Amino acid sequence: MPTRRSADSTEGEQLFETAVEQFDAAADLIGLSDNIRTILRSPKNEIIVNFPAEMDDGSLRVFRGYRVQHSDILGPYKGGLRFTPGVELGEVKALAMWMTWKTSLSNVPFGGAKGGIAFNPREHSVREIERIVRRFTHALGSNIGPEHDIPAPDIGSNAQAMVWMMDTYLNSGSGGDRQNTRRVVTGKTIETGGSLGRDKATGQGLAFVLAHQFDRVNRELEGSTVAIQGFGNVGEHCARAMAQMGVTMTHVADHTGAIMNGRGIDAEALWRHTSEAGGVAGFDDAEALDVDEFFTADVDILVPAAIENQITTERAPHVRASVIVEGANGPTSVEGERILIDRGVEILPDVLANAGGVIVSYFEWLQNKMSARWQLGQVDDELRRYLWEAADAIEAEKKRLACSRREAAYAVALARIGTVFNQRGIWP
Ligand code: GLU
Repeated sequence: MPTRRSADSTEGEQLFETAVEQFDAAADLIGLSDNIRTILRSPKNEIIVNFPAEMDDGSLRVFRGYRVQHSDILGPYKGGLRFTPGVELGEVKALAMWMTWKTSLSNVPFGGAKGGIAFNPREHSVREIERIVRRFTHALGSNIGPEHDIPAPDIGSNAQAMVWMMDTYLNSGSGGDRQNTRRVVTGKTIETGGSLGRDKATGQGLAFVLAHQFDRVNRELEGSTVAIQGFGNVGEHCARAMAQMGVTMTHVADHTGAIMNGRGIDAEALWRHTSEAGGVAGFDDAEALDVDEFFTADVDILVPAAIENQITTERAPHVRASVIVEGANGPTSVEGERILIDRGVEILPDVLANAGGVIVSYFEWLQNKMSARWQLGQVDDELRRYLWEAADAIEAEKKRLACSRREAAYAVALARIGTVFNQRGIWP
């Protein structure tokens, strides 16, 4: 496929170009009409807000926030908010587009969106983060809403941030509506209306998708080894869920370094260490290793659960794992993926593998709408069912179209969106 990247475009814009390239390839495969393609190639709305927030020393700083709403053809816009210093428009556009495919593939009645605030939460006090999040929510105003656009956590944000968003949104609206609009955000704390199992949902989902893949090829999961990149919400819960299935985590990497222990690294002990030390470096029951060595680890399974563009042309030829489960969004470059597929590596693509988060977000939204509370067992069972249905749909499409698993995932997602466009029509 020709690459249309201009040398001076930003990393974020390049990511969006990658997202469009992947989309075009899948659209070709299923013969999506030109009109629908044109619509889906660009997000519907790109919102940028610059807003002030007060720092603890009384000074004011202006922050930049983004919300990109890619498509609402299947339901309200849905997707996370990331708090990272470098977040930019192109990156958010790519991630919003991926959310559209992810919600469609998962068969939840949502569209796709993504957002972020450009700042590093590690450099701010809790009170400063609260003021930043509340001012951002206020600046977004009616651009979000429980039947319009529903944010959730992503890199750098968490349940507490969602509670501040909810509280700000509810207090800015009229009194009578306050109780029935809590679902304006998902990923909240349990006490304020969050769902049991949402916190671990993405990591748990990765393990469910992996187990289904092993079953399909009659391979024993118990006794296999995994290397996980990123030990935030996704990596940590993935480690715990996989440990329950008998998988040994031997390698972990994050922004502070990489560690290994051939006998296994205990997820709970590592989590206690990272909560205090801020990262995996310095964990005493493992030895340090180089990040590039991490990607060549002699393991069965590799889980990139950190950021985009990690398995690139340079790293892909050296990956020894036979299965890659994409915890992050867009961790494998287009060229990297081609190399891996040629080498026979199975890739469980992000739009399937990490969909557990948004699927349980849907359960949270439903529970709020019905003022109901599901048991954890019900959440997990339903999550497994949604993911395995999506995985089965992908395998059938992969066989039918003789294409990659990612292309098959997009084909399933796009076919559903195409059908709805055709039935609804384009108006006015
Ligand atoms: N941020 C997560 C994702 O990328 C979850 C989104 C959501 O729950 O809306 O899928």
